[in-house]
Amino acid sequence: MTFGMKPVFPGTISHEGRAATLGEAVKRPATLGVMGGGQLGRMFVHAAQRLGYNTCVLDADLQSPAGLVSHDHIQADYNDVQGLAIGLTKMADMCDAVTTEFENVPAAALAQLALSLPVAPSAACVAIAQNRIEEKAHFTACSSVSGVNVAPYAVIETATQLQAIPANLLPGILKTARMGYDGKGQVRVKTLADLATAWADLHSVPCVLEMLMPLKAECSVIVARGWDGSVVSFAPQRNVHVDGILAVTHAYPLNMPAAQSLRAQSATESIAHHIKYVGVLCVEFFIVDDGSEHGGLIVNEMAPRPHNSGHYTMDACDVSQFDLQVHSMAGLPLPQPRQHSPAIMLNLLGDMWFGAQGQPRTPDWQAVLSLPGTHLHLYGKQGARPGRKMGHLNITGADVDGVKATARQAAHILGLPGLDE
Ligand code: ADP
Ligand code: MG
Repeated sequence: MTFGMKPVFPGTISHEGRAATLGEAVKRPATLGVMGGGQLGRMFVHAAQRLGYNTCVLDADLQSPAGLVSHDHIQADYNDVQGLAIGLTKMADMCDAVTTEFENVPAAALAQLALSLPVAPSAACVAIAQNRIEEKAHFTACSSVSGVNVAPYAVIETATQLQAIPANLLPGILKTARMGYDGKGQVRVKTLADLATAWADLHSVPCVLEMLMPLKAECSVIVARGWDGSVVSFAPQRNVHVDGILAVTHAYPLNMPAAQSLRAQSATESIAHHIKYVGVLCVEFFIVDDGSEHGGLIVNEMAPRPHNSGHYTMDACDVSQFDLQVHSMAGLPLPQPRQHSPAIMLNLLGDMWFGAQGQPRTPDWQAVLSLPGTHLHLYGKQGARPGRKMGHLNITGADVDGVKATARQAAHILGLPGLDE
């Protein structure tokens, strides 16, 4: 049962009034739309199409990874107000429900779409995740229920706030409130003088200064919440970042202390409930060295969409994070996912396409794919660049030790960092 939303069942014929702007006389199959055409959109499209939905992608790039595999592609630039308005009208006409894969989609665009069709997650929820200041306020507001706090921090929006920063927040990390990802928009600072310089270098945009925490490990949790408030979640995965970008995800029993694992999972569910979130949500946590045996748990940030750290679910679980994105937005029942294999995910960045002297090369797929339990996902991106997410490799197997051994071999063949523990 859903509240305020009729499920969009796959394989049905969509509302007659839709597709008016296209001048189509025919009725369309039920169509799910996604804002953004990146790899997350591509994997969403694949999951939606498997259920028989038509898909529609809105992105500026006609060669976008998701657009290339979608039934329909609306070309619109998120920074072009008029072009976007036209694109949104088409989107509303063609789709029966819309989601996002692009965290920085203008919240106003989602709000506009929501006037005529179900949109999940909502503009309000996405707006919180887009702004570290609001995100931290949200985490703090539900900390009494979630049981997890943020790292000590201060908001810097004015020179007066900069002057008032207590020295005990240092050393710290200055992060822009908006538009940061993969470690971009962040500067590590040791002194108040460093901080002033770093804020000026960031053009004095609104920022947060966070105390640098002694990290023992990092983990994330993916939940899906339906229109009726039902929630299902995956067990936490442990993540290793290299140069601010996710490199490796470990997803198997005892990948982190069990007590922390349960806390992180239930905290994520309460973080979703608190804002009546609908859709797939990923929350990132730090496990910090607080002198205790297993360390303390700190909540870092959230993504209003499937997450890179959940890509292992495509091969290691009976239901993936993208399946849950489809189910939650369309108002279908949310199946509790079951992980049937231990898994390690290795992120494949553009660096792999270059040799030691910078010469272009093709990674040795022959050797990697001859290893047992390797599942290669490439996103169809033209042009490898260092740091660009080109694909990922999931490694599954019957037991954790076997998966670890295969992951080490694959990482060695591909020259990938981050597996050393
Ligand atoms: P984003 O993923 O949006 O780039 P994050 O806030 O997750 O930004 O920071 C990226 C990475 O930087 C984290 O995964 C973690 O490794 C490191 N980091 C961020 N904040 C802190 C902190 N307060 N203390 C220690 N390490 C941090
Ligand atoms: Mg992060």
